[in-house]
Amino acid sequence: MNWKVLACSLCLLGSLTVNVPSLAQYAPTYVEKSGLTLTCYARHRASGSFVPVIGVNGNARGYWGYATYQPNGQPVIIFDPQFLLPYPDVVARYVYYHECAHLKYETSNEIEASCKGLIDMRSAGHVTTAGENALKRVHYSLGPLEPKYGGSGKALWDLTVKCANGN
Ligand SMILES: [Zn+2]
Repeated sequence: MNWKVLACSLCLLGSLTVNVPSLAQYAPTYVEKSGLTLTCYARHRASGSFVPVIGVNGNARGYWGYATYQPNGQPVIIFDPQFLLPYPDVVARYVYYHECAHLKYETSNEIEASCKGLIDMRSAGHVTTAGENALKRVHYSLGPLEPKYGGSGKALWDLTVKCANGN
């Protein structure tokens, strides 16, 4: 046993414990059937520091997912399993990236959340070309949407891809 190494590891462990005491207490924000787990980090409204976002299944007010804050300022993503059930897993994963983008980049703009979410999803290697095609099909099938979503599923997806591609 090398005591210097041990002492050093303990120091590191100690400092990690002090700086991020809550990490081990949190489940991942998103858990997929495939085994993929993802944790979103966003600013806590009360403490101002970046914390792991809590992910829960629940009623997302008619949306696939919903990003919000608990009364104490803790960021939360609500996934609605009922709305997500008919779709391939890539849709739920995309919802995670979209909702995480709302919290992480502190934006309520839907096109921006979709754009930044897709950029993050691509750079993490979490969407294939086939996956993007599936997302496109699902979006195109949505029909008319509120103006904040571009007015239709097709418009939303087209604006999202255009933005994520940097055009
Ligand atoms: Zn949104």
